[in-house]
Amino acid sequence: MSSALETLRRDFGGGIIEPGDTEYESASRSVLAAGNPAHVLRPGSIADVRAGVRFAASAGLLLSVRGGGHGFPGFGTNDGGVVIDLSKLADVEIIDKERHLVRIGGGATWGQVAVALAPHGLAISSGDTKSVGVGGLTLTGGIGWKVRKYGLALDNVAAAEMVTASGEAVHVSAEERPDLFWAIRGGGGNFGIVTAFEFVAHPTTDVFYGTIAFPASEAATVLQGWADYLRIAPEELTSTVAFANPFAGGPEAPVEVYVAFDGDDPELAAQAIDPIRRLGAVTGDGVALQPYADTLADGAPPPPGIQFASRSAFADQESVPEILRILAEVRASERSPFIAVRSVGGAVSRVPGDATAYAHRRAELMFVTTAAGPKPAVEAARPALEAIWDRLTPHVTGAYANFLSSATEEDVAAIYPAETYRRLAAVKRRYDPGNLFAGNHNVQPRVRRRA
Ligand SMILES: Cc1cc2nc3c(=O)[nH]c(=O)nc-3n(C[C@H](O)[C@H](O)[C@H](O)COP(=O)(O)OP(=O)(O)OC[C@H]3O[C@@H](n4cnc5c(N)ncnc54)[C@H](O)[C@@H]3O)c2cc1C
Repeated sequence: MSSALETLRRDFGGGIIEPGDTEYESASRSVLAAGNPAHVLRPGSIADVRAGVRFAASAGLLLSVRGGGHGFPGFGTNDGGVVIDLSKLADVEIIDKERHLVRIGGGATWGQVAVALAPHGLAISSGDTKSVGVGGLTLTGGIGWKVRKYGLALDNVAAAEMVTASGEAVHVSAEERPDLFWAIRGGGGNFGIVTAFEFVAHPTTDVFYGTIAFPASEAATVLQGWADYLRIAPEELTSTVAFANPFAGGPEAPVEVYVAFDGDDPELAAQAIDPIRRLGAVTGDGVALQPYADTLADGAPPPPGIQFASRSAFADQESVPEILRILAEVRASERSPFIAVRSVGGAVSRVPGDATAYAHRRAELMFVTTAAGPKPAVEAARPALEAIWDRLTPHVTGAYANFLSSATEEDVAAIYPAETYRRLAAVKRRYDPGNLFAGNHNVQPRVRRRA
């Protein structure tokens, strides 16, 4: 046994799972990717996380950090290296009732958070799925059902507890290590392991949530009308349009407009939502008052072997009409991917572009195309996907890291504009000069990228 491994076994109080162990099969994989790591560590304390980081660094092994395990590129596992699985660090605790300050373990899921905060009449705008991790979603954005009113999940982070590449435990906030605090709000897992976040939660009532469906043939007009309306709609309203769902008829699938109105007043909700109902011939209307926690989907893991090719980008106001026109045209083809367009703007756009490492503040919309299926089917879909993106690329801005299944240099350049990347690289040099935390859309400490 190597001395690094001996030290780990001595210092680590959590679970160590290795090939041959009964739990290995499930512990080796993240939700969307299989892997064969040599050691899966499940820390139960900050001291364990520190021991795990020191072990990976001294053994010279690849390190993957797993929050909720939902990352599309499969960053939550690897072959032959170490996985630090944070799922045991999932406590949710209200630390300041007056300020609605909540401490959330770095391995918690948004379902755990919603359930823990509901009895206190609080919520955090996060994402749309219970099983998605607080860690991955928050560190690069967090577009949830209250995003227009409260901003991204990362906009509501007040502080974080972290373990850096040297194994040091640090507290970061606007006052303590502000460079690191800036970097972790958008820069992903590049700078260390967040063992806990401190979030400012917001008071919540039950909310009006559900889908309004329109015929596929009305996609073009519904999309344009929806985007025009969202520009002037109250910020209590957040909305997503999903279409070309292959499991609901592909090109014939209804256009589903998801609406979430942050409030329980039926008149105000109707005033906000009715303009959407008037966009076309409604074929289904499932909007109902419900607890915020119930708006989050369960998110059952896909069967093993199912792959996802997901790609995202943002639309600034001037490009919205053309991007939506292309997407509406694309959805009519048999080879269309599943498409979802999400409203952002509102509170997201009021944060200055350089205040956090999430740079796409001007965007009105974020959209995602997804092809899913067994590997051969996803491979077969790629040429059509590339053709679609060749049409979109001249009009789009950047990319949203949380909905990218690839991690090429072009992806990293799309996520981080040159100035953001330069600042991130400076922070990386300070806190992770050896690039121990490389399982992410990676910011290189040394190599300077072209501007
Ligand atoms: C079904 C589904 C629904 C989704 N819905 C939304 C949505 O509504 N809104 C939205 O914005 N996004 C959404 N996403 C995208 C989601 O935000 C990303 O997939 C995100 O990366 C998942 O985070 P995770 O912790 O579950 O994943 P992981 O694979 O565990 O982690 C992703 C990345 O974050 C790093 N990381 C995770 N936790 C920590 C931590 N505590 N400290 C340091 N690094 C960490 C990992 O190392 C990895 O690089 C959805 C994804 C899926 C699959």
